[in-house]
Amino acid sequence: MEGAAMSGTDGTGGAAGTGGGQEPWQWDEPTWRGHVGAVRAGRPLRPARWPGGARAAVALSFDSDHETIPLRNDETHPGKLSQGEYGARAGVPRVLRLLRDRSVPATFFMPAVSALLHPDEVRAYVDGGHEVALHGWIHERNTQLTAADERELALRAADTLESLAGRRPVGIRTPSWDFSDHTLAISRELGLAYDSSLMADDEPYEILDHGEPTGMVEIPVEWIRDDAPYFTMDRFTSSRPYTPPRGVLSLWRDEFDLAVEEGGLFQLTMHPHVIGHRSRFLILRELLDHIGAHDVWYATHEELAAYVSRECPAG
Ligand SMILES: [Zn+2]
Repeated sequence: MEGAAMSGTDGTGGAAGTGGGQEPWQWDEPTWRGHVGAVRAGRPLRPARWPGGARAAVALSFDSDHETIPLRNDETHPGKLSQGEYGARAGVPRVLRLLRDRSVPATFFMPAVSALLHPDEVRAYVDGGHEVALHGWIHERNTQLTAADERELALRAADTLESLAGRRPVGIRTPSWDFSDHTLAISRELGLAYDSSLMADDEPYEILDHGEPTGMVEIPVEWIRDDAPYFTMDRFTSSRPYTPPRGVLSLWRDEFDLAVEEGGLFQLTMHPHVIGHRSRFLILRELLDHIGAHDVWYATHEELAAYVSRECPAG
């Protein structure tokens, strides 16, 4: 996830200008086809049935960014950092209690720096039967890094999570869903089973690398199914929430209801420092009440990726 606006201190080295100095309207056909074809949605991974004959799959995720959003933005003052600290101190215990009470598994995507700041939290995720997966080193913006830096941070993050969680992560969500031209190659080098940063479908699909099947599963996300854009507020910019929590509940319920109607996947991205506040936590509880009235299969992203891979063999 990403907070609001760019901080203004890091607006250099973006991914613009990849067309060899030409304006986009000057590109020849191989150039624009090349950009589009680099990372693409391949065959749908839509099983004929969900485990137990469930009417939909439900994959809940929490990005435990905590202090890493302000740190990534070079905002090191205690005020901003305390907003992230809230996620670890107040949000996570509330979320874990709810998941335990409802026997619902979830995936926690955690920047390595956040995991190093809160090692007990990583152990609580593992002890609770949840999945811990990659979310960058310090919530860096991948498209502003060189390939070598992005790779080094990803490898270091994987080693860090492995040592803290006792198990090597098998999936990644890029920080801020910022998927660079190099991200897929790095994720493949890490041998990851899935990515959860792209948005080409509602249902899981196989990722194509320059037209070639990778065997890697995409569990697609969307800002619609993310708490941050609805609730994030920044004191010094015009970023202000405009959707009340119960409006967000209504949106997410509609997303879920249609997933049930289509027999598909309902995937949700939340943040302990965002959804963990009382008036918002209430809508998560009510959403789980609503989901719980249906016959669904709850899965971690890892379990979901393994299931659709197995049920939808290639060829
Ligand atoms: Zn994040």
